[in-house]
Amino acid sequence: MIEHPAFQIEPWLIRETELDFDRLAQTESVFALSNGHIGLRGNLDEGEPSGLPGSYLAGFYEARPLPYAEAGYGYPEAGQTIINVTNGKIIRLLVEDEPFDVRYGELRRHERVLDLRAGVLRRTLEWASPTGRSVRITSTRLVSFAQRAVAAILYEVEAMDGKTPVVVQSELVANEKLPDANGDPRATAELASPLRSEYFGDRDTRAVLEHSTRASGLTMAAAMDHVVEGPPGTSSTVESFEDLARLLVTADLVRGEPVRLTKFVTYGWSRRRSPPAIVDQVSAALAEGRHTGWDGLLAEQRSYLDDFWDRADVEIDGDSQLQCAVRFGLFHTLQAGARAERRAIAAKGLTGPGYDGHAFWDTETFVLPVLTYTAPHAARDALRWRKLTLELAQERASSLGFQGAAFPWRTIRGQECSGYWPAGTAAFHINADIADAVVRYQAASEDEEFSSGDGLELLVQTARLWRSLGHHDAAGRFRIDGVTGPDEYSAVADNNVYTNLMAERNLRNAFEAVKCYPQRAAELGVDDEEAAAWRDAAKAMLIPYDKHLKVHSQAEAFTQHEVWDFDATTPEQYPLLLHFPYFDLYRKQVVKQADLVLAMHLRGDVFSNSEKARNFAYYERLTVRDSSLSASTQAVIAAEVGQLELAYDYLCEAALIDLDDLQHNTRDGLHIASLAGTWIGAVAGFGGMRDHDGVLSFTPRLPEALTRLTFRLCWRGRRLLVEVTRGRVSYSLLKGSPMDIVHHGRKATVKEQAPLIRPIPRPPPGESLSQPRGREPQRRRPAR
Ligand code: BGC
Repeated sequence: MIEHPAFQIEPWLIRETELDFDRLAQTESVFALSNGHIGLRGNLDEGEPSGLPGSYLAGFYEARPLPYAEAGYGYPEAGQTIINVTNGKIIRLLVEDEPFDVRYGELRRHERVLDLRAGVLRRTLEWASPTGRSVRITSTRLVSFAQRAVAAILYEVEAMDGKTPVVVQSELVANEKLPDANGDPRATAELASPLRSEYFGDRDTRAVLEHSTRASGLTMAAAMDHVVEGPPGTSSTVESFEDLARLLVTADLVRGEPVRLTKFVTYGWSRRRSPPAIVDQVSAALAEGRHTGWDGLLAEQRSYLDDFWDRADVEIDGDSQLQCAVRFGLFHTLQAGARAERRAIAAKGLTGPGYDGHAFWDTETFVLPVLTYTAPHAARDALRWRKLTLELAQERASSLGFQGAAFPWRTIRGQECSGYWPAGTAAFHINADIADAVVRYQAASEDEEFSSGDGLELLVQTARLWRSLGHHDAAGRFRIDGVTGPDEYSAVADNNVYTNLMAERNLRNAFEAVKCYPQRAAELGVDDEEAAAWRDAAKAMLIPYDKHLKVHSQAEAFTQHEVWDFDATTPEQYPLLLHFPYFDLYRKQVVKQADLVLAMHLRGDVFSNSEKARNFAYYERLTVRDSSLSASTQAVIAAEVGQLELAYDYLCEAALIDLDDLQHNTRDGLHIASLAGTWIGAVAGFGGMRDHDGVLSFTPRLPEALTRLTFRLCWRGRRLLVEVTRGRVSYSLLKGSPMDIVHHGRKATVKEQAPLIRPIPRPPPGESLSQPRGREPQRRRPAR
């Protein structure tokens, strides 16, 4: 898409200069606006045509049965699916007596711009109706970061010829008809008319619709209010029904006298509060939004984002597309989590219904590492959401026969929703991923209250799980058998290196945390014996290594399996999961996504440089990247082992996953982990940033094409700016007291007075590597 002439990339903008109906669904995801609580796909104001209408509220779902052909003990029985809630974006227009619809008449100009600094989606167009009347329409949409329940649209219509009567219809629409699902398991389970009317009402320029779900028992309300400005004689009426509320504005336009509608929309939902209380809540939020006014909301949005970019911006010289794509990724990562406030951050954020709106390990392993250093409050809130679901995770562990907590592989509310246990229940690594995110946030924030409270409890309960899931064998080694690691083309294997290393850190960190907070730990029932058992399990953790091949085996026996026949696999047969049985994928050496390579990133502290280089070369030959969670990790390790050009190719792939629709499913929503991975690829890849055991270290290096990279990090109340150019790096403290870092293995202190400047050593020589046939990353030709 980005290569398409209709798309123009500017440092802070994604601009689409003509409307392409074939790309409508993809652009709806790309142009989605969200604050982590409300998500609005970039549907056209008038609602039609659309690829996939979508308005979502974080945590708002319908329950549905999970049927099995053959049931088994411990299979989850109920699923959860995000639902398309009341659409508050719709503004239809009647020009003379023709409905404005881009499929009819003549669309003379059409432009949409996602502005990453202003945090708005702008649209401008000129249209001539089939009877020849021309109008100019401009609309600007925002979902407020400052006021969590508020979205707003400024819509303006101007007549371009003589006197033109128009009717502007601003609506709330519930239970919109959705297109049929496409049979892709990564799409969504479709639910027809999931909302049941509870209440509707209107007055003056306001209206509200309230609905509940049938099975999950949730209630939501959407309300709208308007400011109408137009030529003399402009008038409005409002009406409401069960699934529709509508404000009708009639105006006789003449050139130079537009009609302008400011629409304020608010959303709220609850499981516990009564229907009247929720209506009150959205009405109050509406009053507040209207009181702030359009200009006020714009100003708040700008100031929220100025502050964010101040903490988070990444600058790249040498590739202008990558520059924009990195900011695009950061913007959507922020949108996914900014105001989620103790609700799940889904794999697609709130940009589409893909994966049923579920949250996975994507949150802790890809999204939170970014938010921890750029928007720490959002990282904390996401972890507090996990803590809120801890009881459910403890129940799940107990029903599986384990101690502690077993967090769900995929969920919205906290219950396990994966009906496929080999890549669901067995993917126990998610528990260590959560613990890892806890420890990272604690180290970066020094948030004592969290560390001694929610953080401690999460570490203790996950450590308990590992201790009961694994066992010491006759030789005393601690084994974790029969689990699934990140690579979903292998399942139920013994001693997956990634899982065991992450569990090792989880057990060790829990041991250290209970020593720090003995009283709290005692309240959680931890005694010395239990803590010592965690420490001993960590010390004895088994890490499979193939002495013959001199590489780590992803899991025991993995390197002995037959290698997948890549030469016989055609490009159309990827992703393999849609063309081959899991049975065959599981018993061969073929890797869906970085697994051992991810272990070398997150647990890089336990691999030597030569192990990293050998392992990376070995797994490159097997990794097909059928998951969007792979490229950014491959970028990080490629950079570390000196494969800078390969790292660049992978970073660009992660960054362009949705702008280029590389997996052909951007229509279902954005790949938030990959977009967050763009930051990871830049900062941990070319910046070489690592954060093992609370020490920030850097090994910066740039590929040929990039002449400069800068990034910023929040660290214990400080702000660090790192600027990498050819041959040297400068570390500047923008705020806070002196801080220690490690630069290419040597300790140094950064002080506020002057930047710390260091030379960059040459990278180790990299041997040439190969990937499975047809799965090489596209060679990147930088756009300048
Ligand atoms: C990946 C998982 C990921 C999920 C949601 C799958 O294709 O294999 O690792 O959690 O997508 O993004």
